[in-house]
Amino acid sequence: MSGHRIEHEVVIAGGGPTGLMLAAELALAGVDVAIVERRPNQDVPGRRAGGLHSRTLEILDQRGIADRFISEGQKYPSLRFHATTLDLTGFPTRHNYLLALPQKHFERIIAGWVAELPVRIYREREVTGFVQDDAGVSVAMSDGLSLRAAYLVGCDGGRSLIRKTAGIEFPGWDPTTTWLIAEVEMAEKPNFGIHHSDAGMYAIGPADDGLVGVVVTERPVGRVNEPTLRDLSQALVAVCGTDFGVHSPIFVSWFTDMTRQAATYRQGRVLLAGDAAHIHPPQGGQGLNIGVHDAVNLGWKLAQVVKGTSPESLLDTYHAERHPVAARVLRNTMAQVALLRRDDRTQALGEIVTELLNAEESRRRLAGAMSGLEIRYDLGEGHPLLGRRMPDLDLVTANGPVRVYSLLHAARPVLINFGEDATYDGPWELPVIGRVPAPGAVRVRPDGYVAWVGESAAATGAIGVPA
Ligand SMILES: Cc1cc2nc3c(=O)[nH]c(=O)nc-3n(C[C@H](O)[C@H](O)[C@H](O)COP(=O)(O)OP(=O)(O)OC[C@H]3O[C@@H](n4cnc5c(N)ncnc54)[C@H](O)[C@@H]3O)c2cc1C
Repeated sequence: MSGHRIEHEVVIAGGGPTGLMLAAELALAGVDVAIVERRPNQDVPGRRAGGLHSRTLEILDQRGIADRFISEGQKYPSLRFHATTLDLTGFPTRHNYLLALPQKHFERIIAGWVAELPVRIYREREVTGFVQDDAGVSVAMSDGLSLRAAYLVGCDGGRSLIRKTAGIEFPGWDPTTTWLIAEVEMAEKPNFGIHHSDAGMYAIGPADDGLVGVVVTERPVGRVNEPTLRDLSQALVAVCGTDFGVHSPIFVSWFTDMTRQAATYRQGRVLLAGDAAHIHPPQGGQGLNIGVHDAVNLGWKLAQVVKGTSPESLLDTYHAERHPVAARVLRNTMAQVALLRRDDRTQALGEIVTELLNAEESRRRLAGAMSGLEIRYDLGEGHPLLGRRMPDLDLVTANGPVRVYSLLHAARPVLINFGEDATYDGPWELPVIGRVPAPGAVRVRPDGYVAWVGESAAATGAIGVPA
């Protein structure tokens, strides 16, 4: 590699939702981090993620920035799975709802937060390749400059150059369905809502500025190029019998139900997160969310390894913890796509799924999984809190009331000893599993998961951030 070489501790390829969140986590931990991003700004062409789930909102709350998103979004009390509504309001969390917020707004707001932190962003250039050795990674950029870092993280989306260059396998399932997605004007007034015909599915609803948002099945599967207005018109005629006089598109784009997951999230000094590590259909609106969760799981671990406070093997727990979570998301999205089929046998299956989801326990489990509240990392046997998210309790301390999540703003581990200095007299209740015994003391990781539960409050009588 030629040209001038700039050093950082960590380089992130891609400044989408995952890369931005990871950069913030690393910067909070005092790591010298840089992002290389192809786009000139955070504008998101077309329409992608539509909302934030409960656990994502809790994670943003742990960093003290949830209100920035909540003030611009709209709260919905439930999720959908096939024909069933999954109520969120019973979950013991401050964020027992789905926040509708388009990805372009999510990216703008999170980029605003990142701009307040010491993060270097190299914009309008691409990572074109890298070479790793025992001491670090040399990263080549399209402007001829090269970066040198201890670690490189590929947050560069589903077509990840980092994943491909590292030779990491991306096994999974080819698409069975293509959908066109567009914002357009229509001469005729369509029926808003989700409709099915033998030729496929179409969803039509109001978009900004009096426009109409459309998603429609396209046959056959196998598209490789961006669709045109004419393609959209043809797909609408095939599925709905009319194109509603569609014209003046803001955008026409497409997506499929291709479903794949990286075989490993780490190869030496190279790691993958977000869509670079897993892609799946958008049913259930989970992709952006789990990318953000990947970032907060990896951030503190990478920081500790870079700073030499933890051995490199800590990085392997990133794959061990996050790969199974995304695998379950892949499964629930594949199931939702399968249930869209209109043949008699799939209809019968759908009816049985709906009947089974009549049981409140089943609905609660599924809602817990899709909202991200139910995640449990395998940190061994013990108290039910171990490996689960710490609830955002209202503590009483010598200095007055304190919310647990406010103790996590600095993205550092927290030890809470439920003795005289920090008391909590309310119920201990976890999403999905319900009441659990009150612990004597807990150690909470920077990502908000409980790493240790102690019996006694007598140990230090302390609440605080261990050195
Ligand atoms: C139609 C649709 C609907 C969706 N709906 C939802 C939803 O409702 N909820 C949800 O949670 N998710 C949804 N998703 C998924 C969500 O959009 C993605 O999961 C999310 O964008 C992933 O974020 P990311 O940062 O991992 O990757 P990306 O958003 O793909 O970001 C990758 C970034 O890397 C940059 N980049 C790529 N290669 C390079 C390179 N070589 N050098 C430099 N920069 C590079 C790109 O410019 C981009 O900014 C939807 C997706 C689609 C397509």
